[in-house]
Amino acid sequence: MFLAFISIMPQMFEALSFGITGRAVERGQVVIHTINPRDFATDNYRRIDERPFGGGPGMVMMAEPLEKAILHTKALAVEYFAKHGIANPTCPVIYLSPQGQTLDEETVLAHVKFDGMILLCGRYEGVDERLIECYVDSQISIGDYVLTGGELPAMVLADSVIRRLPDVMNEASADQDSFVDGLLDCPHYTKPLIFKNKKVPEVLLTGHHANIAKWRFLEQVKRTKTHRPDLWAKFSPTKEQAKWLKELDKT
Ligand code: SAM
Repeated sequence: MFLAFISIMPQMFEALSFGITGRAVERGQVVIHTINPRDFATDNYRRIDERPFGGGPGMVMMAEPLEKAILHTKALAVEYFAKHGIANPTCPVIYLSPQGQTLDEETVLAHVKFDGMILLCGRYEGVDERLIECYVDSQISIGDYVLTGGELPAMVLADSVIRRLPDVMNEASADQDSFVDGLLDCPHYTKPLIFKNKKVPEVLLTGHHANIAKWRFLEQVKRTKTHRPDLWAKFSPTKEQAKWLKELDKT
């Protein structure tokens, strides 16, 4: 996947060179570019922000350096897709914004299908609206709160997408995580067997795979009902899960 971050703080993306995302980059499963709009400013101060028309507090990122940065990034993307023989690539320009669609697992999976993403990170009061109208394909928010910049949201989106790319993670492990089957994950335990007088649940020590699967599912159900009744209301069990739920109702 081609991943480009347009940001005036490109150093922040070094965080992606660790762990699973770092390994995906090393293996060439993801190619990351950072593009600084300041490199496309026309004055000696590399200025990319200006006061808002109409007055008011804060500064606004100017459309022109951002436009040049986006066009430069699109050219890099074209080179990447040609080199990798990817015909008709999908590579949207995504503006990270509190006004965008809220990121969830379904949105993540929709983004996994892209060949690339160009992620535009705002700062200050945000970006000149005309730039958004002309160049942005979609907007993503990471929640109903406001951060100082789009870099962390861009990394949240990138990390959540990279870990779901084919062959980046052990698929079985990703498939067990919260939200994948519509429920929260079950509790996990490892050594030691006893910690602060608390023992690991007996069933996990039996080696009985069917009983363990049932126990894990019922724990997922308990947690989801308590912590996320909204998810529970939408959940539809498989045949086997429905059988386990019936047994639970009887107890
Ligand atoms: N004035 C903007 C508003 O209220 O919609 C907020 C600007 S915010 C201080 C600066 C930048 O941080 C935004 O342009 C955006 O790129 C990013 N940002 C802040 N909160 C975000 C969120 N919840 N999701 C995604 N991006 C966010």
